[in-house]
Amino acid sequence: MILVGLTGGIGSGKSTVSSMLAERGAVIVDADQIARDLQGPGSPVLERMAERFGSHIIRDDGTLDRAAVASIVFEDDAALADLNGIVHPAMQDEIQRQIDAHRDTGRVVVLDFPLLSENPRKGLAATIVVDIDPELAVRRLVDQRGMSESDARARMSKQTPREERLATATHVVDNNGDLAALTRQVDDLWQQLTDLSA
Ligand code: ADP
Repeated sequence: MILVGLTGGIGSGKSTVSSMLAERGAVIVDADQIARDLQGPGSPVLERMAERFGSHIIRDDGTLDRAAVASIVFEDDAALADLNGIVHPAMQDEIQRQIDAHRDTGRVVVLDFPLLSENPRKGLAATIVVDIDPELAVRRLVDQRGMSESDARARMSKQTPREERLATATHVVDNNGDLAALTRQVDDLWQQLTDLSA
């Protein structure tokens, strides 16, 4: 197994790069997806979140009201720390379980993790950062993902600054160009990653 990390700010194109790597044969361990799955109806994590933040965060159908939690933790750092304390240990366990399932293979395993720069992980053969001009990220989030400009800017202002994230990179994917330019870089990156096993 070649274990690599993939990260990038919101709107950077991280998910797009992750899909492109999957198409080329990578196993993706998707931290966001794992977090969502752990917060499914009736899950222990969801129960603990309801104890901490109130039962109104669970909808009538048992699913998590993500916006309700987001509005609580967005302006309250103590609440955010509590949320992380509930979700992160279970998430780390599941991430580890998924990685371990491929340990004895020759696969490239990509840990797709938005907070990788903030939570550096030992044992990564590479840390890939998808980089973009923040103004272009805002434009893509508004034009292509239907986000309001104020929401996009508010979320981005909460993130680790671009330079700090870049400082954690061993490989940078520059997503300021078009999708063809991105594809060429991912092809090149894939070659470099598979060469790591040689
Ligand atoms: P992230 O996962 O980092 O938040 P996405 O991969 O969802 O970002 O990309 C944000 C939006 O920009 C998506 O709608 C995606 O399809 C689009 N996008 C990504 N890269 C490019 C590109 N090079 N050119 C045009 N649109 C892009």
